[in-house]
Amino acid sequence: MNNKRNVNLVCLFKGLSVSPSTTELGGYVDVMLSEPYSLATAYLKAYAIKSNIVEKNYNIHLLNLKDDGKGTIDLVSYQNEFLSKILSNNPIAIGFSTYCWNIDTTLILIKKIKKIRPNIKIILGGKYALLEYLLRYPEIDFIIRGEGEIAFKTLLENHLNKINIKGISFKIQNRLIDGGEGDIVKDIDDIPSPFTENIIIPNQYNMMIELSRGCLNNCGYCNWNSNKSLRYHSKKRIKEEIMYAISRKVKHITIIDSAINYNIILLNRFSNIIKHSPKNQLTFSYNLRYEHIDDNQIKYLKEIPSFQVLVGLETINHKALNTSNRSQLNIPLFENSIRLISSYCSPLIGIILGLPNDNPNEFKKTLHFVENLNKRLNHKIGGVLVSLLQVFPNSLLFAQRDKYKIKTHKKGVPYIISNITWNRNQLRLIYSWLKNFSQKSSLKIKGIEGGWTIEKRR
Ligand code: SF4
Repeated sequence: MNNKRNVNLVCLFKGLSVSPSTTELGGYVDVMLSEPYSLATAYLKAYAIKSNIVEKNYNIHLLNLKDDGKGTIDLVSYQNEFLSKILSNNPIAIGFSTYCWNIDTTLILIKKIKKIRPNIKIILGGKYALLEYLLRYPEIDFIIRGEGEIAFKTLLENHLNKINIKGISFKIQNRLIDGGEGDIVKDIDDIPSPFTENIIIPNQYNMMIELSRGCLNNCGYCNWNSNKSLRYHSKKRIKEEIMYAISRKVKHITIIDSAINYNIILLNRFSNIIKHSPKNQLTFSYNLRYEHIDDNQIKYLKEIPSFQVLVGLETINHKALNTSNRSQLNIPLFENSIRLISSYCSPLIGIILGLPNDNPNEFKKTLHFVENLNKRLNHKIGGVLVSLLQVFPNSLLFAQRDKYKIKTHKKGVPYIISNITWNRNQLRLIYSWLKNFSQKSSLKIKGIEGGWTIEKRR
């Protein structure tokens, strides 16, 4: 007889919609996934079940739940549907992977869950597992902050008891026990591949992988990888996942690393695997940091069939870069890097709209700079992706929101509404200018992420 108890790891996704109704939009990590899945919860399970105690006592189930793609994750009918799925196997604990797009619905759901089954333990992890929620929501039993693998496994090994575990925070009566950030997995190969271990089966077209984990930068708006360490998967591990993708006839892989070119050894390792793989139809989307690009890197990058290559410029305004804790732009180096990258693909350039200490004139200058570069490169640049600034909790800019008079949407994706150098009207005017620019310029505007939230504001 199976005496194991069920633990559900849940990630709620909001579908993509042409005319979104709320700023929760953005729930698909990868817009090419027809069925979204959480790699985060898959890693948690893959790591936890290595433990004999966990394996003996618990069945961990992954639930990736999505709405109908019309921006209705917060509708009561979806909440009820999610609720019945989450409770159907009578779990003793439910862990939610939180992001800006699902935190509001998650907080509604946990209240309902505790009303129906008060004894279920509720665990929150991910980007929006904030200590303040532990104080505000008595329904939450545990918050996991930072990387979750070690903390989650240890919590299960200790049978969900409220004891001191690094990375686990909880309340005893009204006393907050703050476990801080969890320990990181130093050798990320110690986390079994959720793909080759059959923990998740991606659809045929697309999957996400990581070659490395972490980022050494600390951009002001970003709260990714607070630990600031960079770790790499081994050649063996990367090869296994690539062979898995080929065997399943996957067509496209999104590499979710901060950038794939921080380290030439990793690049060499990866390009070698691709070069010596059996014939396949794989293409890859990934990010590059322009500062590291040279002929040597290009030699390896050319071996990797590219689908979409994104290089972050953000702005050419030095003051705004400084405010955002980004290194100063080296224009000759940037131009040369784009020229080199353009020799094997049509890179997209990322630009941010609404940075504090940027302004409409400087923003236009950034666009004109890329337009001019594109002309000089014989239109080899694939286009520009403009993102409306998002200021995430625990980021440097969030901590300085009073200094820069930063106002963002309170629900959903924290898109900028105004700050010290941008008011609502200026954002609205620049958004119209951008749309006009995209019709006239030879430089393609591939998208204006979050732009519709500007249009909506009246
Ligand atoms: S925005 Fe990218 S480069 Fe900057 S800290 Fe975040 S992950 Fe790193």
